[in-house]
Amino acid sequence: MKTADVLIIGGGIIGCSIALELARARVRVLLLERDRVGCEASGEAAGYLAPQAEGLAPGPFLDLCLKSREMFGPLQETLREETGIDIEYLRSGALYLLLTEEDEAYGRRLYAEQRDRGLRVEQWDRQQVLEAEPHVTPAVRGALYLPDDHQVQNARMVRALVLAGTRHGAQYVEGSPVTGVVRKGDRVTGVRSVAETYHAGKVVIAAGAWSGTLGELVRHEIPIRPARGQLLSLQTRGDVLRHILFGREAYLVPRANGEVAVGSTVEFVGFDKHVTAAGIEGLLTAARKLVPALASRPMLAAWAGFRPWTPDELPFLGAVPGSPGLYIASGHFRKGILLAPITGHLMAELLRDQEPSLPFSVFRLDR
Ligand SMILES: Cc1cc2nc3c(=O)[nH]c(=O)nc-3n(C[C@H](O)[C@H](O)[C@H](O)COP(=O)(O)OP(=O)(O)OC[C@H]3O[C@@H](n4cnc5c(N)ncnc54)[C@H](O)[C@@H]3O)c2cc1C
Repeated sequence: MKTADVLIIGGGIIGCSIALELARARVRVLLLERDRVGCEASGEAAGYLAPQAEGLAPGPFLDLCLKSREMFGPLQETLREETGIDIEYLRSGALYLLLTEEDEAYGRRLYAEQRDRGLRVEQWDRQQVLEAEPHVTPAVRGALYLPDDHQVQNARMVRALVLAGTRHGAQYVEGSPVTGVVRKGDRVTGVRSVAETYHAGKVVIAAGAWSGTLGELVRHEIPIRPARGQLLSLQTRGDVLRHILFGREAYLVPRANGEVAVGSTVEFVGFDKHVTAAGIEGLLTAARKLVPALASRPMLAAWAGFRPWTPDELPFLGAVPGSPGLYIASGHFRKGILLAPITGHLMAELLRDQEPSLPFSVFRLDR
């Protein structure tokens, strides 16, 4: 297919989510991916869905995150029925560990804020923490227990989104970097890749950390930069942790297969994908400080990925001003896995000229 109703640039979790929602609504959708779907941040992330543990302040962004978090349960069921793939949405709950006086003051503030917002949050004392998680450092003073912050296996989720999208008629072209935009006057009517020209009624930029590099092509500055995140995984047999743990310097995600993901750095080093000695040392030290028992566990892997960062750390969702037919859904920074379901849903409504079920104009590109 060289023509489509909607053409999506980028096969990360955001592009794949939008593609599936559109395909379900019988829109003819074509997704162009430079390399392989899910090969960048969306396949490399830790997969926690934890707006509460991340301490987001009340406001439209927290509302967006909470709405998306709610969508994972039903999404897991639908994807399992449609594809047979279990996206390992685990209702682990999270503990924000308090190790210092300063942490305790922060914990009290967060507790009050989240309780006032009507969210489920509990203050646990030291004993409650150690009963629930016996391997946590005995130096712990307490924790915030966040029973609704969970996790998903992000690489599996991308695979399931693509398989479900394919079954609903979406098309995915891998190994196809977009190198140009086709216009009729100001209107964007398609894109060029190395081998082909594609025509579409609407084009969506969903190229993650690379969306900023497309700005020149689309004649609009897109202030998105890569923020490198290093991550590593340790082997356990599921016998060390039950909850996702957050501390000031690191988080630990105990995955369904027993591995514990330890993350992550935030570094502005351009598109340099190296894992560094300092990065790994920092993560291991922080992990041991939270859970000393992890020190004796085998380290399985370490890797790095690029989060799409924006100056105010909020995503860009909506039309690109001055270019009718062109849209953007990018810049999800640290929360693209969490925000994938709601982004797919809202963007599909917009692209189908429907009223949005949740107002999201605060996330427009020219805010
Ligand atoms: C270490 C790390 C840990 C993270 N942990 C979490 C977490 O626990 N929870 C959470 O919610 N988020 C997490 N994130 C953030 C999350 O991974 C991102 O926000 C999300 O994956 C962004 O998805 P995306 O689809 O926008 O971008 P990507 O997954 O980067 O996909 C963009 C795609 O566009 C393609 N592309 C680029 N240029 C072109 C072009 N010209 N033509 C065609 N295709 C192109 C790329 O090849 C890529 O596949 C983490 C990120 C990192 C790096």
